Amino acid sequence: MDLRERTMHVIESLKQEYPLALCTLDHDQAWKLLVSVRLAAQCTDERVNQITPGLFSAYPSPQALARAEEDDLERIVRPCGLGRSKARDIRGCMQRLVDVFDGRVPDTMEELLSLPGVGRKSANLILGDIFGKPAIVTDTHCIRLSNRIGLVKNERDPAKVERELRALVPPEEGNDLCHRFVLHGRRICTARKNPDCLRCCLKNFCERNL
Ligand code: SF4
Repeated sequence: MDLRERTMHVIESLKQEYPLALCTLDHDQAWKLLVSVRLAAQCTDERVNQITPGLFSAYPSPQALARAEEDDLERIVRPCGLGRSKARDIRGCMQRLVDVFDGRVPDTMEELLSLPGVGRKSANLILGDIFGKPAIVTDTHCIRLSNRIGLVKNERDPAKVERELRALVPPEEGNDLCHRFVLHGRRICTARKNPDCLRCCLKNFCERNL
């Protein structure tokens, strides 16, 4: 079985295992996901989901966040860690949304990367989840699983993993595959403990077991 065939088996097996490939950050509007993604850096999605209802109740629009006092914002987001830089980025990001994009989240990689605090990982998440565009979100789970399964070889650089997966994964499958990597990485192919290969739906296609 060549690498492309194995990749397709991985995609199909994960689809069966996790039929719903949903983002684990709660959101009902694009700009809220943009904020949540920034808060999720070095923080759990669970913690972010606890903070955002209060945050969005205090600041119910991009315009409100763009006008926020940074100290007030920092006080709210501090439980997510890196409070000062997250508050600064969120306010700066919303200011640019308001000033340049009429308060709307743009739908191109280039425009998203022009927003403060938005890197390729966040931009890919927005492109995939909000706009349904081809996306590869190279978070820690994606990088770990791609290496263990053998879709990439000893590659930890997110941009290179993204490039290699884009060459391997059909464009319409990438975004959901990455969500499923997160679910599988939390449940079975974990970072802290040994991966639970015996219970893994990918064991017949994973390089660790071939
Ligand atoms: S077989 Fe093991 S290493 Fe491979 S994906 Fe499954 S749990 Fe991870």
